[in-house]
Amino acid sequence: MTPVIALVGRPNVGKSTLFNRLTRTRDALVADFPGLTRDRKYGQANLAGREFIVVDTGGINGDEEGIDAKMADQSLLAIEEADAVLFLVDARAGLTVADQAIAQHLRKQEKKVFLVANKTDGLDGDVAVAEFYALALGDIYQIAASQGRGTNILIEEALAHV
Ligand code: GDP
Ligand code: MG
Repeated sequence: MTPVIALVGRPNVGKSTLFNRLTRTRDALVADFPGLTRDRKYGQANLAGREFIVVDTGGINGDEEGIDAKMADQSLLAIEEADAVLFLVDARAGLTVADQAIAQHLRKQEKKVFLVANKTDGLDGDVAVAEFYALALGDIYQIAASQGRGTNILIEEALAHV
């Protein structure tokens, strides 16, 4: 089975930028992957010859009716069907209430979750990401999706756990 990696996080953290970089905008034919529905955006990708499927999601807002309601959308389904979840946060914007709500949900999952601080370009990464350790999701992968910085190491790590 081709491993499935889902990109989740609040809007504007860079999920689609990462999706496009990983897939180079080659959208997968959903029909090639039985069991996956069309509600989310799937892309086919490979790193060093290893094939995987990336799932982009619309994002989860933190100011709606509670995390369960918010998560009862495509993002929740994307998490369910994924072998690994990349949870993106914005290193420039800093930690938000939405990030905390998403993290709380993810901590309850059995799923392998990678906490990814995006937009670290031009920042002192270690300083910028320090506050995200409060999300209690372990290591933080620093990337700049728009430049492809840190993305290969992240994907190698994710593929090693699926
Ligand atoms: P999404 O809503 O999570 O899918 O976020 P998008 O991929 O649409 O990106 C939101 C904004 O963040 C866009 O203006 C991107 O150009 C910008 N962005 C994405 N990745 C990076 C990055 O690594 N560095 C910087 N500086 N901006 C980024
Ligand atoms: Mg997007």
